[in-house]
Amino acid sequence: MPIDLSGQPRLTLGTWPTPLDECPRLSEALGGPRILVKRDDVNGLGVGGNKLRKAEFLLAQARNEGADTIITFGAVQTNHGRQTAAACARLGLRCELVLTKSVPMSGEAYERSGNMALDNLYGAHVHLCDTPEETADVYNQVVATAEAEGRKTATIPVGGSNAVGVLGYVAAAQELHGQLSEIDRIVVAVGSAGTAAGLALGIHLLGWPVLLDAQCVSHTAEESRADIRRLVDETGQLLGVGTGDLTHLRVSDGSVGPGYGVTTDEMWEALRLFARTEGITLDPVYSGKAAAGLVAGVRSGAIGPDETVAFMHTGGLPGLFAYAPELVRSSENLR
Ligand SMILES: *Cc1c(COP(=O)(O)O)cnc(C)c1O
Repeated sequence: MPIDLSGQPRLTLGTWPTPLDECPRLSEALGGPRILVKRDDVNGLGVGGNKLRKAEFLLAQARNEGADTIITFGAVQTNHGRQTAAACARLGLRCELVLTKSVPMSGEAYERSGNMALDNLYGAHVHLCDTPEETADVYNQVVATAEAEGRKTATIPVGGSNAVGVLGYVAAAQELHGQLSEIDRIVVAVGSAGTAAGLALGIHLLGWPVLLDAQCVSHTAEESRADIRRLVDETGQLLGVGTGDLTHLRVSDGSVGPGYGVTTDEMWEALRLFARTEGITLDPVYSGKAAAGLVAGVRSGAIGPDETVAFMHTGGLPGLFAYAPELVRSSENLR
């Protein structure tokens, strides 16, 4: 059944539909499954990535509420913050990024390059905080300053993951289904869980017989499953639809490694594989770990050689440059 989102305020910020690329050399290298990559990394604004679909709904809501200042959160190398900054530039909104040093990474590349350089380029006001407590204090200050200056703020949660943001990936499920419905499995990274939640709800509403293979990059499978469930239910309420029991959802945390933003050998291997077979660039924090989960699944036989798999490329390219020194080191180890 088609999903009707026409009652939900939305701006057009990206170029849709994103391509669905057939990846024959990648499929061959893995010895089996037909793999297609859904290119949400190339959607036209702010270097691309999954947060743009959420921003179309979130920023429509903020504008309707009369906001002229958008505040959001993230880690130092947040892709969500960077895409929000670019979208705000396009819409003429002020963007305040309250960022927390939550990843055990340091050095010039991580602290200044990648997304940080682009945040600045897009004109965002960046506030760097050492601890969650400081983040809360700084957020309150940013709100107070805006009020004192007569500006109206809208606050977007980490990763843009609330019911309104999730709508972006309900729409994405519909878009992908329209491109190719004969898919057995969709592989996607799970961070703040809005992307997986939108796909899970969209698949349910379409009555689409496809597995959603959600690969955690920051939390345990149990935590991420609970996050996805909660967001699906909140979004179902917003739309006034039932959400079902999500039997099509699989959540795995086998590729997280030591933690969020911490690199693993399996992730670098997956990055090289996608790059050298298809010229597709993954990122070390999200899509690279989801791809490592895909590779592990094929090797263990959990993903069968006759399956058709759509890998959701959620973007994150600027983040790769934040890890460039590590990328170089991991390559040197190979030769
Ligand atoms: C934020 C992000 C994700 C995860 O999406 P969530 O909706 O937060 O789960 C995946 N990939 C990239 C590149 C991201 O920036």
